[in-house]
Amino acid sequence: MMSSVVLLRYALRSFRTSAATAIWRIKSTQNLCKVRSFSTRSGTGIFGLEHLHRASDWQSIALGTIQKCEQIATEIRSSKPSSHTLQLFDDLSNELCRVLDVMELCRHIHPDPEFIGEAEKWFAVLNSYMQELNADYLLYRPLSELESKSSHLALDREENMMLKSLISDMQRSGIHMPAKTRQKIVELQNKIASLGFEFTRQISRAPTPFSISKEQAKELFSPSMLASFEYVEKRHGKDVYRSDMQTLKHVLHHHPKGEARKLAYLSIYSADASSIQVVESLLGARNQLARMLGYVSYSHFASLDKLVRNPERVREFLLQLNKSLGPKLESELRLLKEEKERTERSSSPIESWEVTFYCNQIRRKLNVESLRLDEYLELEACLQGMFYIANCLFDIRAVEDVTNPEKWHQDVRKFVFFNGSGQSIGTLFLDLYQRPYKYPNSTHFTIQSHRLLKDGSHQLPVIAITMNMEKNSSSKRNSTFLHPFELQTLFHEFGHALHSILSTTRFQNLAGTRTALDFVEMPSHLFEYFARDQRVLQHISKGFGNKTIPQSLVEDMLRNSQLFSGIDAQTQIFYSLLDLELHSSPNVGNGGSVEILKTVQNEYTPFRYVEGTAWHTRFGHLYGYASCYYSYLVAKVLASKIWQRLFSDNPLSKESGRLLREKVLMVGGSQSPQEILESILGNDMRADRFLIELGIDSVGLEECPCIHTGTDN
Ligand SMILES: [Zn+2]
Repeated sequence: MMSSVVLLRYALRSFRTSAATAIWRIKSTQNLCKVRSFSTRSGTGIFGLEHLHRASDWQSIALGTIQKCEQIATEIRSSKPSSHTLQLFDDLSNELCRVLDVMELCRHIHPDPEFIGEAEKWFAVLNSYMQELNADYLLYRPLSELESKSSHLALDREENMMLKSLISDMQRSGIHMPAKTRQKIVELQNKIASLGFEFTRQISRAPTPFSISKEQAKELFSPSMLASFEYVEKRHGKDVYRSDMQTLKHVLHHHPKGEARKLAYLSIYSADASSIQVVESLLGARNQLARMLGYVSYSHFASLDKLVRNPERVREFLLQLNKSLGPKLESELRLLKEEKERTERSSSPIESWEVTFYCNQIRRKLNVESLRLDEYLELEACLQGMFYIANCLFDIRAVEDVTNPEKWHQDVRKFVFFNGSGQSIGTLFLDLYQRPYKYPNSTHFTIQSHRLLKDGSHQLPVIAITMNMEKNSSSKRNSTFLHPFELQTLFHEFGHALHSILSTTRFQNLAGTRTALDFVEMPSHLFEYFARDQRVLQHISKGFGNKTIPQSLVEDMLRNSQLFSGIDAQTQIFYSLLDLELHSSPNVGNGGSVEILKTVQNEYTPFRYVEGTAWHTRFGHLYGYASCYYSYLVAKVLASKIWQRLFSDNPLSKESGRLLREKVLMVGGSQSPQEILESILGNDMRADRFLIELGIDSVGLEECPCIHTGTDN
């Protein structure tokens, strides 16, 4: 449904420099020319990490990193507080992040389980070492002294931001607390990281086996489908079967019999006690950590460095948004109910296992399934279109490097970006096809961040985008064609990549996507608009066989996306509220999470909770976003305003591209998101554009939901 992004925000983050203040002036829309060999990183191991060739190399890389970090940490401990101290911190953070970030990528996508296992093992060691650094008072002291003298030392804006960010991160590790408490906090943070691994692994676990009687099996499933299920055993007179996620999702979304869909729903969303326990332990440990640090809940603790710095404000925004969906949501529910009455002659409420089925059925009847937009969206043409937009807006050019010694799988492609003066400014790896062991969600990974080096040169950004496309989806033409949703996802991840590649911050700790989590999704959501724009789609479609996409087809697609937009938006509100409640309630960690799921679902959605289900055990964002799932809705609201203000008239406007680059993408986290937004939107952060795009124009500006930011907590 939506793509996720893995952004590690280490307490000690690292920073890359970017040159790129030069005038980027590359004309043209040239094709992706293929050239050989650019040296954008010193190392030529896998992922560009020097010395990484075999799984066992992770050990020496991790231990070597600790050794280098120790040298820097020793220098910091004895340093006289100055702006040089901040540089040393960035060096330290850079050493850690350029290995930890790559380990994170490796464990999500490497095709060899041995590589994954070693990356996980040494990630835990390095992560634990980093937590100890965060709790090292002798490292904190020069920062604290620098803070008290900062006005005399006249730190510049970025240095002040760096100082503020480091102090805040270390305080959040309990640096101001007694040594014993600090040790306990480090232990808790390690526990959270290890539970996080376990949780991430269990998200892709097989569905729960289901049991049915012989008669039921015959009545519900065709012989061929029954044969595709794996027989497990006989239990209480019924046959127990197991099936895979893809088959069960197909049953849930398309099977004409309600009982079959209910079976599939229960199989997909129920969980055994141990899976529930993993989530409970994770949430419980976070709750304990927040309380040790003096916060009411983990959501209060997590909101400290965000755009919306208060969970109550987040909740208020979500509830207002939910209220605004009113009449639109009611009309969509009416459609579903009428469809159910026609199909089943039943006026009972729509159940959770019926929603997608009836939405699909209505779409089919309205003939929207016959939209063949993907015939126009050939992968190479889409990539060219994507790079063409970047060229028009930012005067940058992508060139494929086919030598690519850093690749971790034969499908991985490498593109180097150049500015208008022909200087390389960053590298993008695309790993787009599905395969075993690969993380199932589309994701942007940082491999290396921009930072300015001592000699004035730049450490250039290196990014990976991973997706799960079906290779050669059109067997006729031996090409891959994208569903419009896949194109939007590709553009979404490309928006994250541009945020990193165009970053020019001095410290890697503040580069590109290393900004507030509830702001970082804005550029990526903004780029999704390009993938829905008639003018852009026409350009892309011409790139393959010179076929122009008919305007009526794009209009149909947009109308189709509004058909159940109220239900879709409410689902996002439900996920956000659930995430917030799970990280706010004192009852998590003691078996209360299922009860919270039940309460939130019954209160804020029209589809009743189904006894026995524990959907949150597959809610991957619970780990990575930790009470900030609402970031997606905030990003949608902000992106809708910025699109309207800068690009709706002309999506390829150079002037708008310049504004976006200078005010948002270049500055990364070196400026607060509040300041960045104010410079583009003034004080107007209302959801009016977002609601209009959902098909709701009845909400007056007075009562329109609004994102309230602020500094108090
Ligand atoms: Zn994203």
